[in-house]
Amino acid sequence: ATTGERWVFHQGEFARARDVTLGPGTQGLHYGTGVFEGIRSYAAADGDEALLFKAKEHYERLHASCRLLRLDLPYSPDELVEVSRELVRRNGLTGDAYLRPLVYKLALEPGTPFGVRLSGVSTSVTILAMPMGDYSRAEGIRCAVSSWRRVPDASLPARAKITGAYANNALAVDEATAAGYDDAIMLNQGGSVAEASTANVFVVRSGEVATPGPDSDILLGLTRAAVMRIIADETGVSVTERAVPRSELHTADEVFLTGTGCQIVPVTEIDGRPVGDGTPGPLTTRVREVYRRAVRGADPRYRHWTTSVGLG
Ligand code: PMP
Repeated sequence: ATTGERWVFHQGEFARARDVTLGPGTQGLHYGTGVFEGIRSYAAADGDEALLFKAKEHYERLHASCRLLRLDLPYSPDELVEVSRELVRRNGLTGDAYLRPLVYKLALEPGTPFGVRLSGVSTSVTILAMPMGDYSRAEGIRCAVSSWRRVPDASLPARAKITGAYANNALAVDEATAAGYDDAIMLNQGGSVAEASTANVFVVRSGEVATPGPDSDILLGLTRAAVMRIIADETGVSVTERAVPRSELHTADEVFLTGTGCQIVPVTEIDGRPVGDGTPGPLTTRVREVYRRAVRGADPRYRHWTTSVGLG
């Protein structure tokens, strides 16, 4: 299907993308007052089904983001999972795919004056679904530490996926790619590692695995949580959540990123210096393999992370 022919869920109904219209006054467009999620759907390792990865957790996080912006989301996480399954089916997404739920401020209620506000504005919900290949890069990527600092929690909480906040991420990734790198790693105001443009950061050194914690101005990634579980199960060692100084990026044995989009990707170079020996490290490779099987339902330990969508 062309982009316009795809089915979307929009304001309570399934519609073709080309039939969806939004007015020029859409508040979320003016002020970045929307929240979103990104959910992957995977073709199962065996059988005629697609598997949504951690769908309910994504919708729980969406609800938390909505609370922050006073967005009135009229569907429960379970209902949103059902809508997502229906979208995958309607669009015939038998291969790997991506869902993008978006909740945003729509229109001023009668008598509400135009301007920046969170109340007196209606809420709109749109969910897009599109094919998306497994673009995870096994060979690793090159990152630069950004000159743009991560927005602090006291200004615009990174823990909520707020559309407007992603201008910060866009500035960082743009700077990095313009300089010939693949992605940016952002520091927080205190100068320690926060996260990459759309992924969390893990650092491995001398047997310790560390990742910036909830007080480091990060989004609490669901892939991050899955990887922490996998590492504990595979190695018996738990991941340390703590402040990670920038210098640890340059002295680590391994660095890798985790996110719904990139999944698990080794970082083999940072700021022109090789990470470890400049090739993907053993723990990164091992965790990556376990994760890749888990998302396709091939690891019974993690089957509960997936929601089946029958396509037969
Ligand atoms: N940080 C940011 C800024 C992100 O946009 C994402 C992608 N959602 C992540 C981290 C990783 O989160 P998750 O594993 O839940 O996709």
